[in-house]
Amino acid sequence: MIPENHPRRESLIIREKVVKALEDGYLAPQGLIAHGRGECFDYLIGEKTQEFAMKAMKAAIAMLLLAKNPVISVNGNMAALVPDDIVRLAEEINAKIEVNLFYRTLDREKKIEEVLKRAGAKEVLGVGDDASAVIPELFSERRRVSKKGIYIADVVLVGLEDGDRTEALVKMGKKVIAIDINPLSRTSQMASLTIVDNIIRVFPKMISLAKEMKKSDKDELQKIINQYNNKEILKESLRFISERMNQLSLSL
Ligand code: ATP
Repeated sequence: MIPENHPRRESLIIREKVVKALEDGYLAPQGLIAHGRGECFDYLIGEKTQEFAMKAMKAAIAMLLLAKNPVISVNGNMAALVPDDIVRLAEEINAKIEVNLFYRTLDREKKIEEVLKRAGAKEVLGVGDDASAVIPELFSERRRVSKKGIYIADVVLVGLEDGDRTEALVKMGKKVIAIDINPLSRTSQMASLTIVDNIIRVFPKMISLAKEMKKSDKDELQKIINQYNNKEILKESLRFISERMNQLSLSL
């Protein structure tokens, strides 16, 4: 039981969700390590959504709204942290939802499907035999994807992803939107568009943006994408962290 007045209550509640997902058998133990790495970067960005993430989210929603076949790729961490929001965002942007795991087992796939269906998903791709297409150049079990989903997708939204798969998807000509709070990860560097923020904060904001931006016309959305430069956003995030650390060191 986490005390009501604990200064890091929210972060501890989130940790409990991840631990519960491990106990329920759909998160691999390595997922806990990935989560801890994310917590560390959240300290560095001040545990708030910063301007560079806001700009990236706007461009991401523009990209998703203009996509022909957008897909949200879901792993154990995402299913543990934002199951309801995944389903709500998919509805807003008309995207498919596909399970894709680094440490793939049928049991874990089915459990994630169950979590997403409980959250309201009507269809969950990538489970068992549905993942019969292959992403070239990838040798992990992650290369198996759905013919109706990631294989034919033009835009794929991923969270807490690994760099190799992001690179392989980009090489297949797909636009990859990565939610990764670490601007130095290979995923962040490889993605077409990187949202440097905590996935917990990102999804609710993307849902509101999608509701709003759905009213824009295609030209306006395209303009947002044309003006977006991912390298600049990554640079901005690194500058923000270093300036913030510098200021904090001066205030000690
Ligand atoms: P890469 O190959 O991209 O360098 P990796 O495969 O070693 O990275 P993992 O440890 O699997 O990376 O973690 C995936 C990424 O997700 C990490 O960069 C981590 O900082 C990030 N991450 C962890 N928790 C969150 C979160 N809550 N929100 C956003 N990103 C997160």
